[in-house]
Amino acid sequence: MQLQVILNHVEHYKGFVYKRVRWDKTTSPWTLRVQVVPRANSHAECSGCRKKCAGYDRLPEREFEFVPLWGLAVFLVYAMRRVECPRCGICVEHVPWGDGKCRQTKSYRWFLARWAKRLPWLEVARIFHTSWDTVYRSVRHAVAWGLVHRDESGVEAIGIDEIQCQRGQRYLTLGTCLPPPGLTRTSPDQCPARFSCEMDGSCVELGGPVFQAKILEPAGR
Ligand SMILES: [Zn+2]
Repeated sequence: MQLQVILNHVEHYKGFVYKRVRWDKTTSPWTLRVQVVPRANSHAECSGCRKKCAGYDRLPEREFEFVPLWGLAVFLVYAMRRVECPRCGICVEHVPWGDGKCRQTKSYRWFLARWAKRLPWLEVARIFHTSWDTVYRSVRHAVAWGLVHRDESGVEAIGIDEIQCQRGQRYLTLGTCLPPPGLTRTSPDQCPARFSCEMDGSCVELGGPVFQAKILEPAGR
C-alpha cells in the first residue's frame, strides 16, 4: 500500500491530491516529503472570506510539518496559490491543513497538544524533535479551539489557586470548574484536593483540568 493511500484515508483534503513522496535520508531524523497539488479544475478559496475565487499567481513551495510516521519526520509540500478576490483583494488561498504562517499542520498541532496532556512540554519537544515553543503554540491552538467550542452547561462554580513551580517565586495559576466532569466531591477535612468550592465548602480532587490550567500561565514563562 502506498503512503498516499494511507494519507487519503486518515487525512483527506477535498480539492487537493497527494502526489509524489520523497524520502530524504540526509536529515536526522529521516524525512518524508509529500507533495500536495490542487485537484484539476478546482478553484482556490480566499483565506479572508472563504469564497472560491479566480487564481492570481502561485507562491514558491512551502513545507508544513505533519504527524511523524515510524519516527520519520513528515512534511506536506505545497505551492500556495494567490487569488484575486473581489471583496478582499489579492490574498493567499485557504488550505484546510494549516492556517496563517504557521509551519505546522493542524493535525500535528493536535498531536503535540494531546501528548502535552500526558508529558511535560519539554519532554514532548525532545521526543518529537521540535521546540518547546512549538508545543506551547500547539497547546494554545487546542485551548483556543476549546474556548470557542466549550460547553458551560453544568458548571456550578469556578476554582482558582496558585501552586509553586520550579524554584524561587514562580507560581502556576490553576483554574478549574467545580466539579470537573467525572470527579467526585469530598468533604474538606478528608480531601486531598487542591480546590475548595467557595459556594458550598466542598472539595474536589484535581485531575485533567491541570492541562487547561497550564495554558493560563505556561510554566517557566
Ligand atoms: Zn475574499
